[in-house]
Amino acid sequence: MTIAIAAATFDPDGVVPPAGNFIGGVHVAGQGAAMSVLRPSDRRVYCDMATASVDQVAEAAERAWQAFHRSGWATAAPRDRIRVMRRWADLVEADVVNLARLEAVGSTRPIAEAVAWDVPTTAECIRFFSEFADKSGGEIGATRHDNLGLILNQPYGVIGAIAPWNFPLVMACWKIAPALAAGNAVVLKPSEMTPFSVVRLAELAIEAGLPAGMLNIVQGDGRTVGDAIVRHPRIAKITFTGSTRTGAAIMAASAESGIKPVTLELGGKSPQIVFADAPDIARTAATVARAISGNAGQVCVAGSRLIVERRVADEMIDRIGKAFEALKPGATWQDGTTLSPIISDGQCDRIDGIVRRAVAEGATVVTGGGRATAPQDGAFYRPTILTDVAAEGEAVRAEIFGPVLTVQTFTDEEEALSLADHPDYGLAAGVHTGDLARALRAVRRLEAGTVWVNRYGRSGDFILPTGGFKRSGIGRDLGRQAYEANLHSKTALIDFGDSV
Ligand code: NAD
Repeated sequence: MTIAIAAATFDPDGVVPPAGNFIGGVHVAGQGAAMSVLRPSDRRVYCDMATASVDQVAEAAERAWQAFHRSGWATAAPRDRIRVMRRWADLVEADVVNLARLEAVGSTRPIAEAVAWDVPTTAECIRFFSEFADKSGGEIGATRHDNLGLILNQPYGVIGAIAPWNFPLVMACWKIAPALAAGNAVVLKPSEMTPFSVVRLAELAIEAGLPAGMLNIVQGDGRTVGDAIVRHPRIAKITFTGSTRTGAAIMAASAESGIKPVTLELGGKSPQIVFADAPDIARTAATVARAISGNAGQVCVAGSRLIVERRVADEMIDRIGKAFEALKPGATWQDGTTLSPIISDGQCDRIDGIVRRAVAEGATVVTGGGRATAPQDGAFYRPTILTDVAAEGEAVRAEIFGPVLTVQTFTDEEEALSLADHPDYGLAAGVHTGDLARALRAVRRLEAGTVWVNRYGRSGDFILPTGGFKRSGIGRDLGRQAYEANLHSKTALIDFGDSV
């Protein structure tokens, strides 16, 4: 019942975002630069926001450090942490109308998807990671007969988390939930383009019983506020999701400021390989289309390169083109919108520039290729199929982060796999075939952190880690690995003999 209300069209002007900075369990007026946050769907001002100053970042780090050492969260019985996090997840679900509206107005996420996926996934992610809290004791290693060795897995202290704009709640939660479950405190900076829904998430955490200071949010741009998080001495580890270029800057700053460990979830240019023996060509085409048009292609694992066996290429292109044409651009607050806006005008121009340059170099636009008109003033881009692309060209190599699918054809498996290989990125890949041995050969060979067979996209299994090879990242989100990445190990050796 609640969900039906939330998913229906609503008035965006009635949605009032929470104040931006959240430090020590309370809202704090920002003392940094003023910033206008725009609604992506119509580019009207959603909210004027005062960002955090560098001093306020330091205050957030200090509050987090104090909370880590004094609040008892890290030293509490793990089941107490689990209880609080479960209550938090329940509150998130109960707040679905509010959270989904905040997400829909302030980002590219359509309301129906925010209700059906973003908010429930956030709640389940909190539950999933909470369950690790009492299932990861230390280890015992006997060395000599009169020595006892212990390996303790301990939280780092304060984790600095920096998130992107494409799935504001979910991407932030992938960082926050394992960090808190492992006993750490967090200082989070959401993207300056989508700052508000995570503030509501933090309010709900405090309501659920998370001690004040364990989860702090500071707002602002990356170069000032993000960099101040990375460099602050109280912050022991950085977890980041965003572009490869920013990831490299963060890695360098982490090295300069303390050899801090980093988890980096970065960009991609993921292939979808379709063999002629794919089990169901209609279903495969629908999967391929959705993998590059969902969230208007603004997805790290977007399947942006179709590599298709020549004899089914025409049929696939035809079916994908029809699926693209059926998408309905519109405001994220309107029920029935199936094509999201592009996050900003500048990003829409960048997408169009890449398509135009590809055409100038000989590519053919089969469908799309230009801005889509929508009832609102937001930037919408028509889902685009580009054929006759150069294998080394910009459209095939660069992460476009928009609804643009390049098409390359092959005649045999070896050619398919070598076309799929990207010199820089290795985030995800899809393989569609009815031949199990071929699928397994591809899984082994493809250089990607995730390979999907006869599907594309996550299944909602939080136990499966996600992350990249090459310049697509270091470390993993989700899965046991993400939880363990929030702990570092300490060795103790206890001598109970009498030899010197
Ligand atoms: P971005 O790199 O521009 O920004 C990400 C975050 O980093 C923002 O909060 C930004 O303010 C901050 N930032 C920017 N410069 C910084 C600096 N010097 N120091 C510290 N922080 C800084 O990325 P975006 O445009 O927000 O997101 C899109 C990118 O994210 C795409 O490349 C996409 O592939 C990637 N992404 C990856 C995954 C994954 O799991 N691998 C998931 C989602 C998005």
